[in-house]
Amino acid sequence: MNRTVACVRMATHVPTDMDKEYVVFKGILIEKDDAGYRASLQHIDEAQLPEGDVTVRVSHSTLNYKDGLAITGKGPVVRKFPMVPGVDLAGVVETSSHADYRPGDRVLLNGWGVGETHWGGLAQKARLNGDWLVPLPAAFSPQQAMAIGTAGYTAMLCVMALERHGVTPSAGEIVVTGAAGGVGSVAIALLSHLGYRVVAVTGRTGDADYLHGLGAAEVLDRAPFAVPGKPLGKERWAGAVDVVGGHVLANICAATRYRGVVAACGLAGGMDFPATVAPFILRGVTLAGIDSVMCPRAERLEAWRRLAMDLDLSRLGAISHEVGLGEAIALAPKLLAGQVRGRVVVDVNRV
Ligand code: NDP
Repeated sequence: MNRTVACVRMATHVPTDMDKEYVVFKGILIEKDDAGYRASLQHIDEAQLPEGDVTVRVSHSTLNYKDGLAITGKGPVVRKFPMVPGVDLAGVVETSSHADYRPGDRVLLNGWGVGETHWGGLAQKARLNGDWLVPLPAAFSPQQAMAIGTAGYTAMLCVMALERHGVTPSAGEIVVTGAAGGVGSVAIALLSHLGYRVVAVTGRTGDADYLHGLGAAEVLDRAPFAVPGKPLGKERWAGAVDVVGGHVLANICAATRYRGVVAACGLAGGMDFPATVAPFILRGVTLAGIDSVMCPRAERLEAWRRLAMDLDLSRLGAISHEVGLGEAIALAPKLLAGQVRGRVVVDVNRV
């Protein structure tokens, strides 16, 4: 059966007590057809789930920047329609034919194209390739794992990149951009816990108390970083975590100290990189690209092991807030407009 037609039928099906448990589940569905691009909360028939060797009963997902792009259609994130968005999920294995997983196992997932090319986490159920799953670390509840989510796991990958290139707390200051967002907030909490002096760059200087509370030693206004600068500036940063791109990234590279390291993971301010090679060839600066989506399994397991060790869980309450599945759609444009602080956890069983 044509999947689009099937989903139109799903939308009109209202489950009753006669339905077998979880045969029909709730999820956000993105559709694109002659009527346009739209995301809506629907009842989805389990028979429509994609192929996979593990079925997960999802308890929590999140709203990442990429999910905001997918739900609003403001970026070409979704590459197959209809699509359940959600690049993250945490839950319990319901059925499995994968050697590593049994029913009842607690698992989480970040990336691998989930929510882009394969149905994702913003639904009560997901069917996945078991190779994509990570056992939920004992240190975290599913809700806490999703308060960290892809943003927090990416922040950890950035910290690991700084460490891999030899940036120690004694090397000097680390600048974190997009500081009040998801990646930025977790990066500040991690780096300050590890003993680095962290400088937060934000468009929301009114949130300075929040950023100091996470461990930022200093909070700077983004405005001077977001305009064209010189190819080389005064050397300040031993390292950087940049989620913004554009002039902000160019100016940070220009002010990075000799042999410093810039971990670049985002494009919240733009896809371009209006820089020169001067910082790289005259100061030996390293630009370390960070991708969480296809990151090899061993590195993700290490990132989650490190998160369990190096993230002060008492910070998660300040960093995250929880919404129900039904609220996620309305929140997506606000997230893209930079109006959402920290991380958004989605309780998929609260509609
Ligand atoms: P959030 O929306 O939570 O935070 C983004 C932050 O960026 C905002 O809070 C704001 O910081 C800043 N920002 C927003 N708009 C602009 C703008 N126009 N100019 C400059 N700064 C801006 O997103 P995430 O933290 O989840 O993700 C941040 C970026 O990292 C995104 O581009 C995302 O796609 C990318 N990402 C990449 C991953 C990878 O694998 N490479 C994985 C996860 C995320 P403030 O409020 O402090 O001003």
